[in-house]
Amino acid sequence: MNDGLLADLEAEIPGMLDALRAVRHDLHRHPELGFEEHRTQGVVRRWLESNGYRPAIMAETGLVADLRPSPTDHEGSPVDPTASTSRLTASATTNATTNAAPTTNAATTANAATATKTSTKTIALRADLDALPITEETDLPYASVYPGRSHKCGHDGHTTILLGTAAVLARHRVRIPGNVRLLFQPAEEGVRGGGAKVMIDEGALVGVDEVYGLHNWPAFPRGQVHVKPGATMAQVHNFKLVFRGVGGHGSQPQLCKDPVLAGAHFVTAVQSIASRTLGYEGGAVVSVCVFQAGRAENVIPAQATLEGTIRTFDPKITARVLARFREIAASTAATFDVRADLALRVGYPVLVNASACAAAVERVATRVVGATHLSSAGLPLAAGEDFAYFAANVPSAYFFLGAQVPGEDTPVCHHPMFDFDDSLIEIGMRMMLGLVVDRLTSH
Ligand SMILES: [Zn+2]
Ligand SMILES: [Zn+2]
Repeated sequence: MNDGLLADLEAEIPGMLDALRAVRHDLHRHPELGFEEHRTQGVVRRWLESNGYRPAIMAETGLVADLRPSPTDHEGSPVDPTASTSRLTASATTNATTNAAPTTNAATTANAATATKTSTKTIALRADLDALPITEETDLPYASVYPGRSHKCGHDGHTTILLGTAAVLARHRVRIPGNVRLLFQPAEEGVRGGGAKVMIDEGALVGVDEVYGLHNWPAFPRGQVHVKPGATMAQVHNFKLVFRGVGGHGSQPQLCKDPVLAGAHFVTAVQSIASRTLGYEGGAVVSVCVFQAGRAENVIPAQATLEGTIRTFDPKITARVLARFREIAASTAATFDVRADLALRVGYPVLVNASACAAAVERVATRVVGATHLSSAGLPLAAGEDFAYFAANVPSAYFFLGAQVPGEDTPVCHHPMFDFDDSLIEIGMRMMLGLVVDRLTSH
């Protein structure tokens, strides 16, 4: 790694933190849900343009920008935000020839004579833009101004970290060998999520060698970086299972086919998947989170609806768990003479960190937070994350910045009292900058 270059990049951070905190608080005040991040997109776009980037719109409300676009891009007319896919494709195909790209950025201060040995690699850094449909319950001066919407996963912080990183890289553009692609991704959360997949379909990864992303995580101690190679976050399946029987008077079960009894047995029986089908190996979570049936105390209802989620980390385990889940649904229905209608919705795939990329995160984290604050504890998480789509396409690593304050009951992500910890802006930027230097100068 080029320690001199990295030290110069890191030296820019302290002077930027006030401005970055202001950006973060502005984003927090104006949270937007997935594929609705129009204002957020504007904030990001203006920031990037003022730092000499030529961002392209992608996935409706996302943005992509290259630190070192193709030469034709520099010579072209003003940015055409609708030309995202074609320009990225062009950029990627000329990737190997872009090292001498003319640098017209006024913010560039470094002397070209100090440029590091060149690289033809493109390293992508990803931030997520969207908020959650949760009403903010804090009394922060920058609390959400929109009822029912708030940044309760800290994506406002992730976006700010990448904006700060972008600004530092721009100031030293001529010294950065190779290309850095900034991925500002919409719609990570929720039913209408999967913004990462849309970006990939539109060409965001064309020419990209590796992708890195991070998430704040208040369940891990503040000041720690958590990462591991391999499975890091879960494959998600959500289910809706309806047992349909015959309703009737509560005093006459012999004339009914009781879906409540079937549902109750099912809730118990599916516990055996983790404890008996898998045994000591584990590797799955099966949770029934909804059980709705009936309205009156003396009426056996005609149907019972169960909904929940299944989390796994390995395709073989996933197949076994889903097969057993279906068997238990069908056999329960047969046992109690009702019908079972099962709808399984496939969520995000398992997020798998490439070994070499996870090792890079560990090297950089050792420098940023120290070896004693580097950990793989708590991983994999059983939560889902659509960074998994990036990691499924190119070697990638996703890591976590701890945010739990010692002695405090720090609200976790998705809690109405949660707020992103601004002290992570600096750590996050140092991690991202370190990864850029590590991956572009160590070959
Ligand atoms: Zn979230
Ligand atoms: Zn999140």
